[in-house]
Amino acid sequence: MTGRLGIDVGGTKVALRLEVAGQPPRETVLRWAAGATAEADLRALGEAVTGLCSGRGEPVGAIGVAMPATVDHEGRVTAWPSRPSWTGLDLGPALRNLVPGAAVALADDGDLAALAEAEHAGAANLVYLGVGTGIGGGLVLDGRLCPGPARGSCEIGHLIIALDGPLCRCGRRGCLQALASGPATLRRAGDLRADNRHPTDDTDTDTGTGTGTAASGTTDADTAASDVDYPELREAWEAGSDWARTAVGMTAAALAAAVASLTELVRPDLAVIGGGFADGLAGFADEVAARTRALSRPGHPPVPVQAAQLGGLSSLAGALLLARTLDPTSG
Ligand SMILES: [Zn+2]
Repeated sequence: MTGRLGIDVGGTKVALRLEVAGQPPRETVLRWAAGATAEADLRALGEAVTGLCSGRGEPVGAIGVAMPATVDHEGRVTAWPSRPSWTGLDLGPALRNLVPGAAVALADDGDLAALAEAEHAGAANLVYLGVGTGIGGGLVLDGRLCPGPARGSCEIGHLIIALDGPLCRCGRRGCLQALASGPATLRRAGDLRADNRHPTDDTDTDTGTGTGTAASGTTDADTAASDVDYPELREAWEAGSDWARTAVGMTAAALAAAVASLTELVRPDLAVIGGGFADGLAGFADEVAARTRALSRPGHPPVPVQAAQLGGLSSLAGALLLARTLDPTSG
């Protein structure tokens, strides 16, 4: 019997959890040094792993790693804006060096969050959408990640939702995250609040049922005429302000369009809405659920939509599930 180690790598910190049968789990958090090289980061990670695993008696047999970076099929980091020094790093050897002899698997953190939410909900077929700075997510079919770590990650944030929608950072128009990420929602909220304060002839604005009418031609690099920050949006959303309900409603409508489209393809049992931006807005998942129901077709019941249950722990839990698939005998 060997232990298994889950590692959730983030842009500013790394969460680690070691599980060995018959022993209480052990956890630690490593904070990256600002501006450090990839080599220094890996050294610090190795020290954190060694510290966590020392004195446990049983060797670590399997390691699952959740990564936010864009990684190619060979396991090389192609882009990671939060830790640019990792660009070009070959993750396979770097991660195998952490515990010599242990089996290591790596997957996108959104995919692994989906895996963990599916396990928690007891759903074999689940779509997960995480709304934050961008939109991540994952798809689990028959209890397994789709398309699977060997074939890259599921990029739900770049589903095209509106042909004439706003520009995405990827260069296309109308990607889900260009409409429904946290920054996109705040930008739209700022525009709508400014319109409310300075009404003009065209203030009979969309009531939130459309998805592509606001912020056309803007990108994440643009700033709204009147910035709204997240606490302001949350307060106005809870108070029922028109501008906040419209801005968030359009975000929910875009997510519902993605859920409805994915439902046509793979018939999930459940859709789960998580991520820091969504988690902080009370009733947001219910809003997505209502708009998903409105998109259902006769004879095709809508997929249930609910809020994520694991919060910030979902990717770490998914990393441990990934480790379990490597070594079914591990703790
Ligand atoms: Zn895109």
